[in-house]
Amino acid sequence: MEGSVIIIGSGLGGLECGYILARHGMKVTVLEQSNQTGGCLQTFVRGRALFDTGFHYVGGLGDGEPLNVLFRYFGLMDLPWRQLDPECFDEVVIGDRSFPFASGHGMFARRLSEHFPHEKDAIRKYTEFLKKVGDHIFDSFSPRSAEGFFSESLFSRPAYGFLTETVKDPLLRKVLSGTSLKMELSADSLPLYVFAQINDSFIRSSWRLCGGGSQITDTLAESIRRMGGEVRTDAEVTSVRVEGGRVAGVTVNGGEPLDADYVVSDIHPAALVALIGETKAVRKVYRHRMSSLENTYGMFTANIRLKPGTLKYVNRNIHMHGSDADLWNPRPGRTDSILVNWSVPYDGSDDAISLDILTPMWWSEVSKWAGLPFGHRGDDYVQFKKAKTEECLGLAEQRIPGLRDAVDRIYTSTPLSYMSYLKEPEGSAYGVRKDWRSPMTTVLSPRTPLPGLLMTGQSLNLHGILGVTMTSVFTCAEILGMEALASEILGTDRSFV
Ligand SMILES: Cc1cc2nc3c(=O)[nH]c(=O)nc-3n(C[C@H](O)[C@H](O)[C@H](O)COP(=O)(O)OP(=O)(O)OC[C@H]3O[C@@H](n4cnc5c(N)ncnc54)[C@H](O)[C@@H]3O)c2cc1C
Repeated sequence: MEGSVIIIGSGLGGLECGYILARHGMKVTVLEQSNQTGGCLQTFVRGRALFDTGFHYVGGLGDGEPLNVLFRYFGLMDLPWRQLDPECFDEVVIGDRSFPFASGHGMFARRLSEHFPHEKDAIRKYTEFLKKVGDHIFDSFSPRSAEGFFSESLFSRPAYGFLTETVKDPLLRKVLSGTSLKMELSADSLPLYVFAQINDSFIRSSWRLCGGGSQITDTLAESIRRMGGEVRTDAEVTSVRVEGGRVAGVTVNGGEPLDADYVVSDIHPAALVALIGETKAVRKVYRHRMSSLENTYGMFTANIRLKPGTLKYVNRNIHMHGSDADLWNPRPGRTDSILVNWSVPYDGSDDAISLDILTPMWWSEVSKWAGLPFGHRGDDYVQFKKAKTEECLGLAEQRIPGLRDAVDRIYTSTPLSYMSYLKEPEGSAYGVRKDWRSPMTTVLSPRTPLPGLLMTGQSLNLHGILGVTMTSVFTCAEILGMEALASEILGTDRSFV
C-alpha cells in the first residue's frame, strides 16, 4: 500500500500500528515526546536491578493461544518469556487465607473447587463462560454475522452482576475478583467483556519477560526501522494539521511541520482533541465528549531492590487483600489490596534481585501536587509516598517473611509520575473507563470525525498488552481492510476455537 503515516506516541499501540503499516509498504514515522520509546513498557535500571514501569505479566502466550498468535505475527515470540508456575501462577490472599489460580481452565476449576466444594458447579459455569469469551476473541476479525459478535453484547453487561448471579459464596466472589489490579473493578461500571476477556487470557497461561517489557517495544521499533520507517524520540506532537477538511500532518515541538496521508494517535483521546485546530470536521460536541470521558484510577508502585542473596525468586504473583477489603468498590486513601510481582533474575540464579508492590492510587490523592515540577513537589509529597510504602510493606510482609530486612532501596511512583513521563491525563493506569451502562460512548472506535485521523491504544477497547494489540489490528484495518489483515495474522484457518 502506498502512502505515509505519522504515529503520535511510541507506546505498544503506536509501535504495533507502525509495524503493521510498514509491513504493508507505508512510509511510517513514529513520534515520541519522551526521550525513551515504549510508553508504559519503559524500564529503568538502578544498580543491579532492572524495573518495569507498566508491565508485569501477560496471559495467553502458550502455543495456539490468542496473544501467541498475535505476537508471532509481530515477531515477539523469540523474546525470553518465562511461564509462571502452572500449578499456581497467581496466589490470591484474602485476610489469612490463600487460594491458588492454576493454569488451564480444567485445572483452574478443579483447584478452586477443592477450596469451595459447595460451589463446584458455579466454578465450572464461571470457567466455561470465560473460556467461551476467550475462544471467540478473533470473531471481531471476521465479517460480522447477522447476530453480531458473541462478545459485543458483553460490553453492555455488568461484570459484577454476572459474578453475583453465577456465584453465591461471597468469599469465592472475592477470590475470583482477587487478581483485580489488572483492571479497575467497579460494581457500577466494569463491563463483563473486560473482566472475562482479561481473566480468561491469564487462566490459559501466564508469563513474565526476563529483562523487562521494553524488549517488546524495542523489538517493534527495530523492525519498523528495518522496514524503512523512522522512530523519533524527543519529538512531541504539538498540533494536528488539517487541510481541506482532512488531516494533513502534524507539527513537532511547536515548529516543525510534517506531512502525511494518515495520522494515527496512540495518546489519550482527550489529549488528541486538544491538539486539533479549529475545523468543521471536528465539532464541539465531539471535542466535549472526548475531553469529559472518565479515566480509570492510577497506580502507586514501590520498586524494591533487594539485598543480594536475601530472598528467593518466586515464580508466581501474590495478590493480597485485607479481610474487609471491598474489591468492587475500592476507595481512595486506603491500602486494602496489593499485587507483589518478582522480576525474573536476568543472571539465571534463583535469588531474587527485585520485586514490585502495586496498589491503586486515585488522581484525587495526588492532584494537589500536580502543578509542581518533578523532583520539587515538597516534603509533604515525600512523606505521603513514604507512608504509602509503609502500608504496602506492612501488608506484603504478612505473606513474605523477611521482606523488610531484605530491602536494599525503594523507588516509588504515583499517578503524577505517569502524567509527567507519559502525559497520561490524571496519570490513569488503564486510560478511559469503559462503562457497561454507556458502551456506545465509552468503548471508542478507532475512527474520528476527521478523515485520515485514527486512534489506537488502551483507551479504545481493552487495555493491557492483549487489548492494545487487538486494538492495533482494528485501527490498521481502517486503512488496510480487515479481510487481508486477518488472513495475514490468523492464516487461512480462522477457526481459532
Ligand atoms: C502500573 C501499570 C502496570 C501494568 N501492568 C500490566 C501488566 O502486567 N500486563 C498488561 O498486560 N498490562 C499492564 N499494564 C497496562 C499496559 O501497560 C498498557 O495498557 C499499555 O502498555 C498501554 O499502551 P498504549 O500504547 O495504549 O499507551 P502508552 O504506553 O501510554 O503510550 C503512549 C505514548 O504516547 C506518548 N505521547 C503522549 N503525548 C504525546 C505527544 N503529544 N507527542 C508524542 N508522543 C506523545 C507517551 O510518552 C507514550 O510513550 C499496566 C499499566 C500500568 C500503568
